[in-house]
Amino acid sequence: MIDKVNSISEKDINELKDQIDQTQKPLIITHYNPDGDAMGSTLALYHYLVKKGKTPILVTPNDYPEFLHWLPGNEKVVVYKRNSGTVLNALKDADTIFCLDFNDPDRTEGLQKYIKEAAGKKVLIDHHPEPGDFADIVISDTQYSSTAELVYYVIEQLGDANLVDKIIAECIYTGIMTDTGAFNYNSSRPYTYYVVSKLIELGINKDKIHWNIYDKYSTDRMRLLGYCLYKKMEVFPEFNTAFISITKEELRDFGFSPGDSEGFVNYPLSIKGICFTAIFIEKDKNVKISFRSKGEFSTNKFSEENFNGGGHKNASGGYSNDSLENTLKRFRELLPKYKKELNNGL
Ligand code: 5GP
Ligand code: MN
Repeated sequence: MIDKVNSISEKDINELKDQIDQTQKPLIITHYNPDGDAMGSTLALYHYLVKKGKTPILVTPNDYPEFLHWLPGNEKVVVYKRNSGTVLNALKDADTIFCLDFNDPDRTEGLQKYIKEAAGKKVLIDHHPEPGDFADIVISDTQYSSTAELVYYVIEQLGDANLVDKIIAECIYTGIMTDTGAFNYNSSRPYTYYVVSKLIELGINKDKIHWNIYDKYSTDRMRLLGYCLYKKMEVFPEFNTAFISITKEELRDFGFSPGDSEGFVNYPLSIKGICFTAIFIEKDKNVKISFRSKGEFSTNKFSEENFNGGGHKNASGGYSNDSLENTLKRFRELLPKYKKELNNGL
């Protein structure tokens, strides 16, 4: 028995069906700093809508890492940062705006105003907690490993599973694989593997997708990782916590390109007894932070309470407008307050 959660009411699915049938000018958008799930889920929906005879516009707020550029349909993506006029006009013009892999328009970092003001019907498809109430049709459930898996579920519920081809399957697999850390976390439901089995039946090369994502790093990136683990990791066994920090200067020294620090935050989780990790990256205007945990510690709550952020229980992010030094000081000082939860995390 596959544990299909009835996340979408019949009313929502019928509304979505009508909306897809009617739409003449669909637009798909995802969050700032798009990751594998953001790109996998939006491109899957893009190809599906094309199969339904539509001509969707796919928008990202900014550029995304090169290791995602092989995805089928990559050349169709319109990046707001480089094409702002086109994107603002398209948002005004769209009759349907599909918002994928974010729960709040603020996650687009700059497009929220235009999304909220846009006349088109908003459809939210997402797996983050606490979906904002900006959308007309809300398809949101935290039980899904990824938005990409949820897109498969939606297509299936719409009665169109037969339209999922190898191209769509590659996009969906990429989203599931990246949002589960290659089936490490968020992947304990049989439904995830049911979807994967359907994708494999369609002939995807899952090993190649893995190589495309995880084995395309530059030498600089590997050296930066080594440097971070050797010189920039602080471990606090009494709080079951470890973190890494990187300054702007260090990023420059290692020829940093977007995506190079992807995954760094997970490494300290492999230390015995560590259940909470963070990475602090100094940017021009703020410090970007990623949090990860193993087990019970709610990183999204920690991020919301202290660093203007949110996300999932075991993977979240936020930022600090303070200097890197002060941010790290504040983080170290916060740990005793969470000692009990951290000690009971594993
Ligand atoms: P990452 O650490 O890979 O950038 O993000 C992990 C997860 O944390 C994302 O899927 C997203 O849900 C969440 N996240 C990252 N940055 C932010 C942020 O600044 N604000 C909020 N609300 N969530 C974030
Ligand atoms: Mn996701």
